[in-house]
Amino acid sequence: MKTSITHANLETDDGKEANRILRNCVHCGFCNATCPTYQLTGDELDGPRGRIYLIKQVLEGRQPSRLTQTHLDRCLTCRNCETTCPSGVDYGHLVDIGRKLVSTQNRRTITDSFKRLAVRKLFLTRPLFNTTIAIAQSIRALLPAAIKQKIPAKPQPLLHWPDTEHERKIILLPGCVQPALQPNIDRATAIVLDRLGIQALRIPQAGCCGGVSHHLDAYDEAHGYIKNNIDNWWPYIENNQVEAIISTATGCAVTIKEYGRMLAEDDAYQSRAARVSELCKDLSEYVAEQPIPQGAVSTSAGKVAFHPPCTLQHGQQIRGKVESILQASGKQLVAFQESHLCCGSAGTYSILQKTMAEQLRDRKLQHIESAQPDVIVTANIGCLLHLQSGTRIPVRHWIELLV
Ligand code: SF4
Ligand code: SF4
Repeated sequence: MKTSITHANLETDDGKEANRILRNCVHCGFCNATCPTYQLTGDELDGPRGRIYLIKQVLEGRQPSRLTQTHLDRCLTCRNCETTCPSGVDYGHLVDIGRKLVSTQNRRTITDSFKRLAVRKLFLTRPLFNTTIAIAQSIRALLPAAIKQKIPAKPQPLLHWPDTEHERKIILLPGCVQPALQPNIDRATAIVLDRLGIQALRIPQAGCCGGVSHHLDAYDEAHGYIKNNIDNWWPYIENNQVEAIISTATGCAVTIKEYGRMLAEDDAYQSRAARVSELCKDLSEYVAEQPIPQGAVSTSAGKVAFHPPCTLQHGQQIRGKVESILQASGKQLVAFQESHLCCGSAGTYSILQKTMAEQLRDRKLQHIESAQPDVIVTANIGCLLHLQSGTRIPVRHWIELLV
């Protein structure tokens, strides 16, 4: 694609990078075929090719309108288009640059800004989030259906975190919302790893991976979370005490793998950020390298449908590992149509773009339910809660089936 990016934009690192990415695009439009939002609206500007044009125009000096921002906001950042693109266009990175540029040139409405701020504060202030969830669970029956669907019925009875120390250790990222909503996911992970002779370390000072702030235009805040994690993990890394950094949420894993790129211009953090990204592994990637853990083989789960999150299959380009682990442990997997498409969760998308998120969820569930599974499993807390809000079939994290 020919570009005429302004000199001012070409002088920035983001502008140079965007120019490089844009030049790979041959505007063939193949990517539209697998774009969930294009499939819903049929509007070219709700597909990757249209969004690429919008970003190009802004880089070339055109003032972005509110509509430009709306079309970029409607993108799920599912990166399905990257998987489909025959020219290797790095759309995910381009849309990040485009959103950042548009957010500096186009002020959001007060309502929109408030909503985004409220979501960030709620998700990222652990005591506030924990208290809100506890109150919501106690009055769940009185809540409007739309909110009730998102709140797990009652706190789960907690699995026991293993006490055994092992020479092999990994760092387990707790994330922001998962400990309050589904604390057994990390506990199940620690139990499975313990059976493999690996100790999962919790570093309480580490927190959100930075993804929530990054996707809500709060870039300095995102860098603050990232640097805090690096600072708190570094003593374990520099002393070679841990062999990996693991997240049980694919959305966090994909963000940590980007730390090196996100802090590439920061002299103080650049090399440590790159090392952290190198050490980060998705849970499925790590478990697939180990033998099947003792006690995991059983067929008791019945028919299992695995929904692969976009941050696993497109963001990290990891496919088939969860399925192999589950099959090797005796689970009966069922296939369903359109497993490559986003379920509509996409981080905070299901809150900020509710209508499209629910349309995508219902379409996904229709396909899954037609395979008649007894349980649906996934690999990301956001997908788990979003899917559970639309079905009576239990939705769980896949690692919980191995305990
Ligand atoms: S991003 Fe890729 S698939 Fe989409 S229009 Fe450009 S070259 Fe074609
Ligand atoms: S990231 Fe997903 S929603 Fe966004 S343009 Fe690509 S395929 Fe469409």
